[in-house]
Amino acid sequence: MNLLASKNRQILLDKLAQEKFDLLLIGGGITGAGIALDAASRGLKVALVEKQDFAQGTSSRSTKLIHGGLRYLKQGELKLVKEVGSERAIVHKNAPHLVIPEKMLLPLIDRGNYGKLATSFGLWVYDVLAGVKGDDRRKMLTKAKTLEKEPLLNPETLKGGGFYAEYRTDDARLTLEVIKTASNYGAVCANHCESVQLLYNDERVTGITAKDQLTNRTFSIQADYVVNATGPWVDTIRKEDNSLKGKRLHLTKGVHLVVNRQKLPLQQSLYFDVPDGRMIFAIPRGKITYIGTTDTNYQGTLEEPVTTLEDAQYLLSSINETFPSINLTLDDIESSWAGLRPLIHQDGKSPSELSRKDEIFESVSGLLSIAGGKLTGYRKMAQRIVDLITDKMNRKEKCQTKTIAINGGDFASAQKVNEYIQQVSQQLQTEGLDAYVAEYLVSTYGTQTQAVIALYNQLKAVQGNEKPSLLIVLAELHFCLKNEAIFTLDDFFNRRTGRLYFDIQSVKELAEPIAQEMQIQLGWTEAILQQNRINLQQLMDTLETFA
Ligand code: FAD
Repeated sequence: MNLLASKNRQILLDKLAQEKFDLLLIGGGITGAGIALDAASRGLKVALVEKQDFAQGTSSRSTKLIHGGLRYLKQGELKLVKEVGSERAIVHKNAPHLVIPEKMLLPLIDRGNYGKLATSFGLWVYDVLAGVKGDDRRKMLTKAKTLEKEPLLNPETLKGGGFYAEYRTDDARLTLEVIKTASNYGAVCANHCESVQLLYNDERVTGITAKDQLTNRTFSIQADYVVNATGPWVDTIRKEDNSLKGKRLHLTKGVHLVVNRQKLPLQQSLYFDVPDGRMIFAIPRGKITYIGTTDTNYQGTLEEPVTTLEDAQYLLSSINETFPSINLTLDDIESSWAGLRPLIHQDGKSPSELSRKDEIFESVSGLLSIAGGKLTGYRKMAQRIVDLITDKMNRKEKCQTKTIAINGGDFASAQKVNEYIQQVSQQLQTEGLDAYVAEYLVSTYGTQTQAVIALYNQLKAVQGNEKPSLLIVLAELHFCLKNEAIFTLDDFFNRRTGRLYFDIQSVKELAEPIAQEMQIQLGWTEAILQQNRINLQQLMDTLETFA
Protein backbone atom coordinates (compact mmCIF):
# COMPACT_ATOMS: atom_id res chain seq x y z
CA MET A 1 0.00 0.00 0.00
CA ASN A 2 1.30 3.47 -0.84
CA LEU A 3 1.33 5.30 2.49
CA LEU A 4 2.09 8.57 0.69
CA ALA A 5 -1.29 8.50 -1.10
CA SER A 6 -3.22 11.39 0.46
CA LYS A 7 -6.21 9.12 1.04
CA ASN A 8 -4.07 6.73 3.15
CA ARG A 9 -3.10 9.35 5.72
CA GLN A 10 -5.08 7.80 8.59
CA ILE A 11 -3.46 4.40 7.96
CA LEU A 12 -0.04 6.09 7.92
CA LEU A 13 -0.67 7.91 11.19
CA ASP A 14 -2.06 4.76 12.83
CA LYS A 15 1.12 2.93 11.84
CA LEU A 16 3.21 5.67 13.45
CA ALA A 17 1.14 5.44 16.63
CA GLN A 18 0.98 1.65 16.88
CA GLU A 19 4.41 0.39 15.85
CA LYS A 20 7.77 0.80 17.53
CA PHE A 21 10.64 2.11 15.40
CA ASP A 22 14.42 1.74 15.44
CA LEU A 23 14.80 5.36 14.38
CA LEU A 24 12.50 8.37 14.54
CA LEU A 25 13.44 11.47 12.58
CA ILE A 26 12.07 14.90 13.41
CA GLY A 27 12.21 17.08 10.28
CA GLY A 28 11.36 16.34 6.66
CA GLY A 29 13.85 18.58 4.86
CA ILE A 30 16.66 17.11 2.78
CA THR A 31 18.63 16.14 5.93
CA GLY A 32 15.79 14.09 7.46
CA ALA A 33 14.85 12.67 4.05
CA GLY A 34 18.44 11.56 3.35
CA ILE A 35 18.76 9.91 6.77
CA ALA A 36 15.41 8.14 6.28
CA LEU A 37 16.58 6.68 2.98
CA ASP A 38 20.00 5.63 4.25
CA ALA A 39 18.62 4.00 7.40
CA ALA A 40 15.62 2.31 5.74
CA SER A 41 17.81 0.93 2.94
CA ARG A 42 20.08 -0.63 5.60
CA GLY A 43 17.02 -2.41 7.01
CA LEU A 44 16.21 -0.13 9.96
CA LYS A 45 12.59 0.51 10.85
CA VAL A 46 12.25 4.25 10.29
CA ALA A 47 9.63 6.90 11.08
CA LEU A 48 9.78 10.57 10.06
CA VAL A 49 7.57 13.49 11.06
CA GLU A 50 7.52 16.91 9.37
CA LYS A 51 5.47 19.69 10.98
CA GLN A 52 4.83 21.62 7.76
CA ASP A 53 5.03 20.07 4.30
CA PHE A 54 8.08 18.03 3.27
CA ALA A 55 10.83 20.55 2.31
CA GLN A 56 8.81 23.55 3.48
CA GLY A 57 11.73 24.71 5.64
CA THR A 58 15.05 25.62 4.06
CA SER A 59 14.99 22.72 1.60
CA SER A 60 12.64 24.49 -0.83
CA ARG A 61 14.35 27.88 -0.47
CA SER A 62 17.96 27.31 -1.57
CA THR A 63 19.74 28.52 -4.72
CA LYS A 64 18.81 25.09 -6.10
CA LEU A 65 22.35 24.22 -7.12
CA ILE A 66 24.11 20.96 -6.53
CA HIS A 67 27.49 22.59 -6.24
CA GLY A 68 30.87 22.22 -4.64
CA GLY A 69 30.81 25.76 -3.27
CA LEU A 70 33.57 27.60 -5.08
CA ARG A 71 33.40 30.26 -2.38
CA TYR A 72 34.47 27.81 0.33
CA LEU A 73 37.75 27.29 -1.49
CA LYS A 74 38.68 30.89 -0.70
CA GLN A 75 37.92 30.11 2.97
CA GLY A 76 40.37 27.20 2.86
CA GLU A 77 37.63 24.57 3.36
CA LEU A 78 39.31 22.05 1.06
CA LYS A 79 37.79 18.98 2.75
CA LEU A 80 34.28 20.37 2.43
CA VAL A 81 34.79 21.31 -1.24
CA LYS A 82 36.21 17.86 -1.98
CA GLU A 83 33.29 16.10 -0.34
CA VAL A 84 30.41 18.13 -1.75
CA GLY A 85 32.21 18.52 -5.10
CA SER A 86 32.44 14.75 -5.45
CA GLU A 87 28.87 14.27 -4.27
CA ARG A 88 27.57 16.28 -7.23
CA ALA A 89 28.28 13.50 -9.70
CA ILE A 90 26.70 10.87 -7.43
CA VAL A 91 23.47 12.82 -6.89
CA HIS A 92 23.36 13.50 -10.65
CA LYS A 93 23.74 9.79 -11.44
CA ASN A 94 21.01 8.82 -8.96
CA ALA A 95 18.52 11.46 -10.14
CA PRO A 96 19.64 12.55 -13.63
CA HIS A 97 16.29 14.21 -14.47
CA LEU A 98 16.40 16.35 -11.31
CA VAL A 99 20.10 17.12 -11.00
CA ILE A 100 21.02 18.59 -14.35
CA PRO A 101 24.51 19.64 -15.52
CA GLU A 102 24.71 23.42 -15.70
CA LYS A 103 27.77 25.25 -16.99
CA MET A 104 28.56 28.35 -14.93
CA LEU A 105 30.22 31.50 -16.25
CA LEU A 106 32.33 33.53 -13.83
CA PRO A 107 33.05 36.89 -15.48
CA LEU A 108 36.32 38.60 -14.57
CA ILE A 109 35.85 42.32 -14.18
CA ASP A 110 37.90 45.36 -13.24
CA ARG A 111 38.05 45.63 -9.43
CA GLY A 112 36.54 42.12 -9.09
CA ASN A 113 37.30 39.70 -6.26
CA TYR A 114 39.67 37.57 -8.28
CA GLY A 115 42.25 38.14 -10.99
CA LYS A 116 42.70 35.87 -14.00
CA LEU A 117 45.47 33.78 -12.47
CA ALA A 118 43.75 33.30 -9.13
CA THR A 119 40.49 32.32 -10.87
CA SER A 120 42.24 29.93 -13.21
CA PHE A 121 44.08 28.28 -10.31
CA GLY A 122 40.99 28.28 -8.05
CA LEU A 123 38.78 26.65 -10.68
CA TRP A 124 41.53 24.12 -11.45
CA VAL A 125 41.77 23.15 -7.75
CA TYR A 126 37.95 23.00 -7.60
CA ASP A 127 37.90 20.51 -10.50
CA VAL A 128 40.76 18.43 -9.10
CA LEU A 129 39.17 18.19 -5.64
CA ALA A 130 35.82 17.15 -7.11
CA GLY A 131 37.37 14.75 -9.63
CA VAL A 132 35.89 16.61 -12.63
CA LYS A 133 37.07 15.00 -15.87
CA GLY A 134 37.43 15.63 -19.61
CA ASP A 135 35.41 18.31 -21.29
CA ASP A 136 33.76 19.33 -18.02
CA ARG A 137 37.06 20.75 -16.69
CA ARG A 138 37.21 24.51 -16.34
CA LYS A 139 38.14 26.68 -19.28
CA MET A 140 39.48 30.20 -19.09
CA LEU A 141 37.88 32.47 -21.70
CA THR A 142 39.04 35.65 -23.42
CA LYS A 143 36.92 38.77 -23.18
CA ALA A 144 35.49 38.11 -26.67
CA LYS A 145 34.61 34.49 -25.85
CA THR A 146 33.04 35.55 -22.54
CA LEU A 147 30.86 38.09 -24.35
CA GLU A 148 29.90 35.44 -26.87
CA LYS A 149 28.65 33.27 -24.01
CA GLU A 150 26.84 36.21 -22.37
CA PRO A 151 26.39 39.32 -24.50
CA LEU A 152 24.59 41.21 -21.71
CA LEU A 153 27.80 41.60 -19.68
CA ASN A 154 29.41 45.04 -19.58
CA PRO A 155 32.19 45.16 -22.25
CA GLU A 156 33.68 48.24 -20.55
CA THR A 157 34.67 46.41 -17.37
CA LEU A 158 34.92 42.82 -18.59
CA LYS A 159 38.37 41.22 -18.79
CA GLY A 160 37.53 37.58 -19.51
CA GLY A 161 35.86 34.68 -17.76
CA GLY A 162 36.07 31.27 -16.17
CA PHE A 163 33.71 28.57 -17.44
CA TYR A 164 33.13 25.56 -15.20
CA ALA A 165 30.74 22.73 -14.41
CA GLU A 166 27.99 22.67 -11.76
CA TYR A 167 24.51 21.11 -11.51
CA ARG A 168 21.11 22.61 -10.85
CA THR A 169 18.13 20.99 -9.21
CA ASP A 170 14.70 21.51 -7.73
CA ASP A 171 15.45 21.21 -4.00
CA ALA A 172 11.85 20.52 -2.94
CA ARG A 173 11.36 17.80 -5.55
CA LEU A 174 14.70 16.26 -4.68
CA THR A 175 13.68 16.13 -1.00
CA LEU A 176 10.30 14.68 -1.86
CA GLU A 177 11.69 12.00 -4.19
CA VAL A 178 14.21 11.00 -1.51
CA ILE A 179 11.26 10.68 0.93
CA LYS A 180 9.37 8.57 -1.62
CA THR A 181 12.43 6.37 -2.16
CA ALA A 182 12.79 5.95 1.62
CA SER A 183 9.10 5.09 1.76
CA ASN A 184 9.68 2.39 -0.91
CA TYR A 185 12.18 0.89 1.57
CA GLY A 186 9.55 0.90 4.31
CA ALA A 187 10.12 4.26 6.04
CA VAL A 188 6.88 5.71 7.42
CA CYS A 189 6.98 9.45 6.68
CA ALA A 190 4.26 11.95 7.61
CA ASN A 191 4.09 15.61 6.62
CA HIS A 192 1.91 18.14 8.50
CA CYS A 193 2.71 16.19 11.68
CA GLU A 194 4.60 18.02 14.43
CA SER A 195 6.75 16.75 17.25
CA VAL A 196 5.22 18.69 20.15
CA GLN A 197 7.03 16.95 23.01
CA LEU A 198 9.98 14.65 23.50
CA LEU A 199 9.24 11.53 25.53
CA TYR A 200 11.72 10.04 28.01
CA ASN A 201 12.17 6.84 29.91
CA ASP A 202 14.81 6.88 32.67
CA GLU A 203 16.05 10.19 31.23
CA ARG A 204 16.64 8.58 27.82
CA VAL A 205 14.69 9.95 24.88
CA THR A 206 12.37 7.21 23.64
CA GLY A 207 10.00 9.01 21.29
CA ILE A 208 7.73 11.98 20.84
CA THR A 209 4.20 13.18 21.19
CA ALA A 210 3.14 14.01 17.66
CA LYS A 211 0.32 16.29 16.56
CA ASP A 212 -1.48 15.83 13.26
CA GLN A 213 -1.75 19.43 12.07
CA LEU A 214 -4.74 18.64 9.86
CA THR A 215 -6.97 17.26 12.64
CA ASN A 216 -5.16 18.33 15.86
CA ARG A 217 -5.12 14.66 16.95
CA THR A 218 -2.14 13.88 19.20
CA PHE A 219 -0.48 10.49 19.67
CA SER A 220 2.88 9.11 20.74
CA ILE A 221 5.57 7.54 18.55
CA GLN A 222 8.10 5.20 20.16
CA ALA A 223 11.65 4.62 18.91
CA ASP A 224 15.06 3.42 20.11
CA TYR A 225 16.84 6.42 18.59
CA VAL A 226 15.55 9.92 17.92
CA VAL A 227 17.28 12.27 15.51
CA ASN A 228 16.63 15.99 15.45
CA ALA A 229 17.03 16.98 11.78
CA THR A 230 15.05 20.19 12.00
CA GLY A 231 17.45 22.59 10.25
CA PRO A 232 16.78 26.12 11.58
CA TRP A 233 14.71 24.60 14.44
CA VAL A 234 17.54 22.32 15.69
CA ASP A 235 18.21 24.49 18.76
CA THR A 236 14.49 24.66 19.62
CA ILE A 237 14.43 20.89 19.98
CA ARG A 238 17.83 20.86 21.77
CA LYS A 239 16.43 23.40 24.22
CA GLU A 240 13.42 21.19 24.87
CA ASP A 241 15.88 18.36 25.55
CA ASN A 242 17.79 20.62 27.99
CA SER A 243 20.89 20.08 25.91
CA LEU A 244 21.38 23.48 24.30
CA LYS A 245 24.95 23.89 25.53
CA GLY A 246 28.21 24.64 23.73
CA LYS A 247 27.84 25.15 19.99
CA ARG A 248 24.70 26.87 18.76
CA LEU A 249 23.03 27.67 15.47
CA HIS A 250 23.64 30.94 13.69
CA LEU A 251 20.83 31.61 11.23
CA THR A 252 21.42 33.69 8.14
CA LYS A 253 18.75 34.64 5.63
CA GLY A 254 19.15 34.28 1.88
CA VAL A 255 16.75 35.75 -0.65
CA HIS A 256 16.11 35.03 -4.35
CA LEU A 257 14.16 37.11 -6.85
CA VAL A 258 12.36 35.79 -9.92
CA VAL A 259 11.93 37.87 -13.07
CA ASN A 260 10.46 37.03 -16.43
CA ARG A 261 13.11 35.52 -18.75
CA GLN A 262 12.35 38.26 -21.29
CA LYS A 263 13.27 40.93 -18.75
CA LEU A 264 16.63 39.31 -18.03
CA PRO A 265 17.29 37.19 -21.12
CA LEU A 266 20.53 35.54 -20.05
CA GLN A 267 21.90 32.89 -22.37
CA GLN A 268 23.78 31.31 -19.56
CA SER A 269 24.01 30.84 -15.77
CA LEU A 270 26.42 33.26 -14.12
CA TYR A 271 28.23 33.64 -10.81
CA PHE A 272 29.40 37.22 -10.53
CA ASP A 273 31.02 39.78 -8.21
CA VAL A 274 29.06 42.57 -6.60
CA PRO A 275 30.64 45.74 -5.22
CA ASP A 276 30.42 44.69 -1.54
CA GLY A 277 32.73 41.75 -2.26
CA ARG A 278 30.00 39.08 -2.31
CA MET A 279 29.13 36.80 -5.21
CA ILE A 280 25.67 36.33 -6.70
CA PHE A 281 24.10 33.76 -9.02
CA ALA A 282 21.79 34.55 -11.94
CA ILE A 283 20.17 31.42 -13.32
CA PRO A 284 17.89 31.23 -16.37
CA ARG A 285 15.34 28.46 -15.99
CA GLY A 286 12.32 27.80 -18.24
CA LYS A 287 10.20 30.96 -18.45
CA ILE A 288 12.11 32.91 -15.78
CA THR A 289 15.54 33.95 -14.54
CA TYR A 290 16.25 33.87 -10.81
CA ILE A 291 18.82 35.89 -8.93
CA GLY A 292 20.36 35.31 -5.52
CA THR A 293 21.34 35.30 -2.88
CA THR A 294 21.73 37.62 0.07
CA ASP A 295 23.38 36.48 3.32
CA THR A 296 22.31 38.46 6.41
CA ASN A 297 22.01 37.64 10.11
CA TYR A 298 18.48 36.60 11.04
CA GLN A 299 16.49 36.78 14.27
CA GLY A 300 12.81 36.70 13.15
CA THR A 301 10.25 33.90 13.06
CA LEU A 302 11.44 30.65 11.52
CA GLU A 303 8.31 29.84 9.53
CA GLU A 304 7.94 31.81 6.29
CA PRO A 305 10.86 34.29 6.40
CA VAL A 306 10.20 37.07 3.89
CA THR A 307 12.04 39.16 1.32
CA THR A 308 12.29 42.77 2.51
CA LEU A 309 12.42 45.84 0.28
CA GLU A 310 16.10 46.21 1.20
CA ASP A 311 16.85 42.61 0.12
CA ALA A 312 15.06 43.15 -3.19
CA GLN A 313 16.81 46.47 -3.89
CA TYR A 314 20.22 44.98 -3.11
CA LEU A 315 19.75 42.17 -5.66
CA LEU A 316 18.20 44.45 -8.29
CA SER A 317 21.06 46.93 -8.09
CA SER A 318 23.58 44.08 -8.37
CA ILE A 319 21.91 42.93 -11.58
CA ASN A 320 21.58 46.41 -13.04
CA GLU A 321 25.25 47.11 -12.34
CA THR A 322 26.46 43.86 -13.94
CA PHE A 323 24.22 44.02 -17.02
CA PRO A 324 24.09 47.73 -17.99
CA SER A 325 21.39 47.36 -20.64
CA ILE A 326 19.01 45.77 -18.11
CA ASN A 327 17.01 48.15 -15.99
CA LEU A 328 15.11 45.96 -13.61
CA THR A 329 12.71 47.62 -11.19
CA LEU A 330 10.62 46.31 -8.32
CA ASP A 331 7.69 45.98 -10.74
CA ASP A 332 9.62 43.38 -12.73
CA ILE A 333 9.79 40.94 -9.82
CA GLU A 334 7.29 38.15 -10.44
CA SER A 335 8.06 36.03 -7.41
CA SER A 336 10.68 35.49 -4.73
CA TRP A 337 11.70 33.21 -1.89
CA ALA A 338 13.60 33.59 1.35
CA GLY A 339 15.31 30.82 3.30
CA LEU A 340 17.31 30.38 6.49
CA ARG A 341 20.73 28.74 6.59
CA PRO A 342 21.06 26.62 9.73
CA LEU A 343 24.78 27.31 10.22
CA ILE A 344 26.91 26.70 13.28
CA HIS A 345 27.97 29.84 15.14
CA GLN A 346 31.64 30.82 15.11
CA ASP A 347 32.68 33.82 17.21
CA GLY A 348 33.67 36.90 15.23
CA LYS A 349 32.67 35.58 11.79
CA SER A 350 30.34 37.41 9.41
CA PRO A 351 27.41 35.51 7.78
CA SER A 352 29.35 34.81 4.57
CA GLU A 353 32.42 33.62 6.49
CA LEU A 354 30.59 30.99 8.56
CA SER A 355 31.49 27.41 7.71
CA ARG A 356 28.94 25.30 5.85
CA LYS A 357 30.24 22.09 7.50
CA ASP A 358 27.74 19.82 9.21
CA GLU A 359 28.05 18.62 12.80
CA ILE A 360 26.34 16.02 14.96
CA PHE A 361 25.54 16.77 18.61
CA GLU A 362 24.73 13.92 20.99
CA SER A 363 23.00 14.81 24.24
CA VAL A 364 22.99 12.89 27.55
CA SER A 365 19.44 11.78 26.81
CA GLY A 366 20.69 10.13 23.62
CA LEU A 367 19.03 12.72 21.33
CA LEU A 368 21.12 13.12 18.19
CA SER A 369 20.97 16.51 16.46
CA ILE A 370 22.46 17.26 13.06
CA ALA A 371 22.98 20.80 11.77
CA GLY A 372 24.93 22.80 9.21
CA GLY A 373 25.75 21.27 5.85
CA LYS A 374 24.41 21.74 2.33
CA LEU A 375 21.72 20.27 0.16
CA THR A 376 24.50 18.89 -2.04
CA GLY A 377 26.11 16.92 0.78
CA TYR A 378 22.90 15.37 2.15
CA ARG A 379 23.85 11.79 1.29
CA LYS A 380 27.19 11.95 3.13
CA MET A 381 25.60 13.70 6.12
CA ALA A 382 23.07 10.88 6.29
CA GLN A 383 25.78 8.26 6.00
CA ARG A 384 27.72 9.75 8.93
CA ILE A 385 24.79 9.77 11.32
CA VAL A 386 23.41 6.38 10.28
CA ASP A 387 26.92 4.88 10.67
CA LEU A 388 26.91 6.24 14.22
CA ILE A 389 23.48 4.76 14.95
CA THR A 390 24.19 1.33 13.41
CA ASP A 391 27.42 1.19 15.45
CA LYS A 392 25.43 1.80 18.62
CA MET A 393 22.98 -0.91 17.54
CA ASN A 394 25.82 -3.32 16.73
CA ARG A 395 24.51 -3.67 13.20
CA LYS A 396 26.82 -4.36 10.32
CA GLU A 397 24.91 -3.07 7.27
CA LYS A 398 26.91 -0.56 5.24
CA CYS A 399 25.60 2.54 3.45
CA GLN A 400 24.17 1.72 0.02
CA THR A 401 22.81 5.06 -1.12
CA LYS A 402 25.65 5.71 -3.55
CA THR A 403 23.95 3.35 -5.98
CA ILE A 404 20.28 3.77 -5.11
CA ALA A 405 18.36 5.50 -7.92
CA ILE A 406 16.11 8.21 -6.54
CA ASN A 407 12.45 7.71 -7.36
CA GLY A 408 11.75 8.77 -10.98
CA GLY A 409 15.50 8.74 -11.72
CA ASP A 410 15.75 5.21 -13.07
CA PHE A 411 17.24 6.18 -16.43
CA ALA A 412 19.84 3.87 -18.04
CA SER A 413 22.11 6.90 -18.39
CA ALA A 414 21.95 10.69 -18.12
CA GLN A 415 21.79 10.92 -21.95
CA LYS A 416 18.51 9.01 -21.87
CA VAL A 417 16.82 11.93 -20.07
CA ASN A 418 16.98 14.08 -23.21
CA GLU A 419 15.76 11.22 -25.39
CA TYR A 420 12.86 10.77 -23.00
CA ILE A 421 12.02 14.49 -23.16
CA GLN A 422 11.90 14.21 -26.97
CA GLN A 423 9.66 11.17 -26.75
CA VAL A 424 7.27 12.86 -24.30
CA SER A 425 7.33 16.01 -26.41
CA GLN A 426 6.18 14.06 -29.48
CA GLN A 427 3.46 12.34 -27.43
CA LEU A 428 2.16 15.68 -26.14
CA GLN A 429 2.45 17.53 -29.45
CA THR A 430 -0.55 15.60 -30.75
CA GLU A 431 -2.49 17.04 -27.78
CA GLY A 432 -1.43 20.58 -28.67
CA LEU A 433 0.89 20.88 -25.66
CA ASP A 434 4.21 22.58 -26.38
CA ALA A 435 7.77 21.37 -25.78
CA TYR A 436 8.00 23.36 -22.53
CA VAL A 437 5.39 21.05 -20.96
CA ALA A 438 7.40 17.93 -21.87
CA GLU A 439 10.59 19.38 -20.45
CA TYR A 440 8.80 20.55 -17.31
CA LEU A 441 7.13 17.18 -16.73
CA VAL A 442 10.31 15.14 -17.17
CA SER A 443 12.42 17.45 -15.01
CA THR A 444 9.70 17.33 -12.36
CA TYR A 445 8.61 13.69 -12.37
CA GLY A 446 11.34 11.85 -14.32
CA THR A 447 10.20 8.41 -15.46
CA GLN A 448 6.94 8.93 -13.54
CA THR A 449 5.87 11.24 -16.38
CA GLN A 450 4.24 8.19 -18.03
CA ALA A 451 1.96 7.85 -15.00
CA VAL A 452 0.99 11.53 -15.31
CA ILE A 453 0.24 11.07 -19.03
CA ALA A 454 -1.82 7.96 -18.29
CA LEU A 455 -3.91 10.02 -15.83
CA TYR A 456 -4.23 12.74 -18.50
CA ASN A 457 -5.66 10.18 -20.93
CA GLN A 458 -8.13 8.94 -18.32
CA LEU A 459 -9.28 12.49 -17.56
CA LYS A 460 -9.56 13.28 -21.26
CA ALA A 461 -11.83 10.28 -21.76
CA VAL A 462 -14.37 11.78 -19.33
CA GLN A 463 -13.74 15.51 -19.69
CA GLY A 464 -12.96 15.63 -23.42
CA ASN A 465 -14.11 19.25 -23.78
CA GLU A 466 -11.63 20.59 -21.25
CA LYS A 467 -8.50 22.42 -22.47
CA PRO A 468 -5.41 20.12 -22.64
CA SER A 469 -3.41 22.74 -20.71
CA LEU A 470 -5.81 22.36 -17.75
CA LEU A 471 -6.21 18.59 -18.09
CA ILE A 472 -2.45 18.03 -17.82
CA VAL A 473 -2.30 20.00 -14.56
CA LEU A 474 -5.32 18.08 -13.23
CA ALA A 475 -3.42 14.91 -14.16
CA GLU A 476 -0.46 16.18 -12.12
CA LEU A 477 -2.80 16.85 -9.22
CA HIS A 478 -4.16 13.30 -9.37
CA PHE A 479 -0.63 11.93 -9.57
CA CYS A 480 0.37 13.92 -6.47
CA LEU A 481 -2.77 12.83 -4.60
CA LYS A 482 -1.93 9.20 -5.37
CA ASN A 483 1.80 9.39 -4.60
CA GLU A 484 2.92 12.59 -2.90
CA ALA A 485 0.88 13.28 0.24
CA ILE A 486 -0.58 16.66 -0.73
CA PHE A 487 -3.07 18.33 1.57
CA THR A 488 -3.06 22.05 0.71
CA LEU A 489 -3.02 24.24 -2.39
CA ASP A 490 0.41 25.46 -1.29
CA ASP A 491 1.76 21.87 -1.15
CA PHE A 492 0.75 21.44 -4.79
CA PHE A 493 1.61 24.82 -6.31
CA ASN A 494 4.80 25.34 -4.35
CA ARG A 495 6.75 22.20 -3.49
CA ARG A 496 5.25 19.62 -5.90
CA THR A 497 5.16 21.67 -9.09
CA GLY A 498 7.37 24.73 -8.37
CA ARG A 499 4.75 26.93 -10.05
CA LEU A 500 4.66 29.57 -7.31
CA TYR A 501 8.28 30.39 -8.04
CA PHE A 502 8.78 29.49 -11.68
CA ASP A 503 5.39 30.19 -13.28
CA ILE A 504 3.33 32.27 -10.84
CA GLN A 505 1.09 33.57 -13.64
CA SER A 506 -0.19 30.05 -14.22
CA VAL A 507 -1.14 29.75 -10.52
CA LYS A 508 -3.48 32.71 -10.92
CA GLU A 509 -5.33 30.85 -13.68
CA LEU A 510 -5.19 27.39 -12.16
CA ALA A 511 -5.88 28.11 -8.49
CA GLU A 512 -9.67 27.84 -8.70
CA PRO A 513 -10.06 24.65 -10.80
CA ILE A 514 -7.35 22.95 -8.73
CA ALA A 515 -8.96 24.09 -5.47
CA GLN A 516 -12.30 22.68 -6.57
CA GLU A 517 -10.79 19.35 -7.59
CA MET A 518 -8.91 19.12 -4.28
CA GLN A 519 -12.17 19.78 -2.46
CA ILE A 520 -13.78 16.82 -4.25
CA GLN A 521 -10.82 14.47 -3.88
CA LEU A 522 -9.94 15.30 -0.25
CA GLY A 523 -13.53 15.87 0.95
CA TRP A 524 -12.82 19.45 2.02
CA THR A 525 -15.60 21.37 3.73
CA GLU A 526 -16.41 24.86 2.37
CA ALA A 527 -14.44 26.31 5.31
CA ILE A 528 -11.29 24.32 4.46
CA LEU A 529 -11.63 25.27 0.79
CA GLN A 530 -11.95 28.93 1.71
CA GLN A 531 -9.00 28.79 4.12
CA ASN A 532 -6.85 27.26 1.37
CA ARG A 533 -7.82 30.04 -1.04
CA ILE A 534 -6.95 32.68 1.56
CA ASN A 535 -3.62 31.05 2.47
CA LEU A 536 -2.58 30.80 -1.18
CA GLN A 537 -3.50 34.42 -1.89
CA GLN A 538 -1.60 35.62 1.19
CA LEU A 539 1.44 33.64 0.18
CA MET A 540 1.34 35.04 -3.37
CA ASP A 541 1.13 38.55 -1.95
CA THR A 542 4.26 38.00 0.17
CA LEU A 543 6.16 36.54 -2.80
CA GLU A 544 5.28 39.50 -5.03
CA THR A 545 5.40 42.53 -2.72
CA PHE A 546 8.10 43.80 -0.35
CA ALA A 547 8.04 46.07 2.66
P1 FAD B 1 15.13 22.14 6.56
O1 FAD B 1 14.97 21.99 5.11
O2 FAD B 1 14.77 23.45 7.14
O3 FAD B 1 14.28 20.99 7.22
C1 FAD B 1 13.99 20.97 8.60
C2 FAD B 1 12.52 20.65 8.75
O4 FAD B 1 12.20 20.37 10.11
C3 FAD B 1 11.61 21.80 8.33
O5 FAD B 1 10.88 21.43 7.17
C4 FAD B 1 10.71 22.02 9.55
O6 FAD B 1 9.38 22.31 9.22
C5 FAD B 1 10.85 20.71 10.30
N1 FAD B 1 10.57 20.83 11.73
C6 FAD B 1 10.99 21.79 12.58
N2 FAD B 1 10.52 21.58 13.81
C7 FAD B 1 9.78 20.45 13.75
C8 FAD B 1 9.01 19.72 14.71
N3 FAD B 1 8.91 20.12 15.98
N4 FAD B 1 8.35 18.60 14.29
C9 FAD B 1 8.44 18.19 13.01
N5 FAD B 1 9.14 18.85 12.07
C10 FAD B 1 9.80 19.96 12.44
N6 FAD B 1 22.79 24.09 -0.42
C11 FAD B 1 23.24 23.58 -1.60
O7 FAD B 1 23.78 22.49 -1.62
N7 FAD B 1 23.12 24.28 -2.77
C12 FAD B 1 22.59 25.51 -2.81
O8 FAD B 1 22.47 26.09 -3.90
C13 FAD B 1 22.18 26.10 -1.60
N8 FAD B 1 21.70 27.35 -1.59
C14 FAD B 1 21.19 27.88 -0.44
C15 FAD B 1 20.63 29.14 -0.47
C16 FAD B 1 19.99 29.66 0.65
C17 FAD B 1 19.39 31.02 0.61
C18 FAD B 1 19.90 28.88 1.83
C19 FAD B 1 19.15 29.41 3.01
C20 FAD B 1 20.50 27.62 1.88
C21 FAD B 1 21.15 27.11 0.75
N9 FAD B 1 21.75 25.85 0.75
C22 FAD B 1 22.25 25.31 -0.41
C23 FAD B 1 21.78 25.04 1.98
C24 FAD B 1 20.63 24.02 2.02
O9 FAD B 1 19.46 24.55 1.49
C25 FAD B 1 20.39 23.57 3.46
O10 FAD B 1 21.61 23.14 4.00
C26 FAD B 1 19.38 22.45 3.57
O11 FAD B 1 18.23 22.68 2.81
C27 FAD B 1 19.00 22.24 5.03
O12 FAD B 1 18.12 21.16 5.10
P2 FAD B 1 17.56 20.63 6.47
O13 FAD B 1 16.77 19.42 6.17
O14 FAD B 1 18.68 20.49 7.44
O15 FAD B 1 16.64 21.80 7.02
